[in-house]
Amino acid sequence: MNAMGVTDSGHLSALDGRLLRRAIQLSASAAAKGNMAFGALLGDPEGNILLEAENTTFTERNPLNHAETNLVNMAVASLDPELIAAATLYTSCEPCAMCSGAMYWGGINRTVYAMSEHDLLDITGVSDHCPTMRGVGCRAILNSGQRHIEVSGPHLVEEACAVQLDYFAARSPESS
Ligand SMILES: [Zn+2]
Repeated sequence: MNAMGVTDSGHLSALDGRLLRRAIQLSASAAAKGNMAFGALLGDPEGNILLEAENTTFTERNPLNHAETNLVNMAVASLDPELIAAATLYTSCEPCAMCSGAMYWGGINRTVYAMSEHDLLDITGVSDHCPTMRGVGCRAILNSGQRHIEVSGPHLVEEACAVQLDYFAARSPESS
């Protein structure tokens, strides 16, 4: 537990898969409300959902309101640090640099994500609407910290990408 940096876990357990699918559902829910199609949740080691969050960048007019950063803000405001430290952040898309930083500073030590930042960039391309960062990746951020953090992903990529593709197809019919 004293080791620092990122441990990669490639296996997706049934428990993780169930909660990750819920995060993907939340990404579709966010899009249905007029936001970017990203969802995240915090789960305890037994698979109970502690908190759920969606991207709210448009409805709350705040470009910082990514799903994971929203989730971390909710968590630190409402949960004990010990509970947060033992929890897992499940997210429909790999945490960006900002959300990876929020996860780290918020005290979360494990994340499981669906589509990768590269997968997202493949879909968004160069975009003012969704200017995806180019391959920073959550591991580079989390690996620079002073705690041991477990990262698992990408998983369920087709399911997560399908929500993004629907989102962009609905937004830009001419590009489909
Ligand atoms: Zn983010």
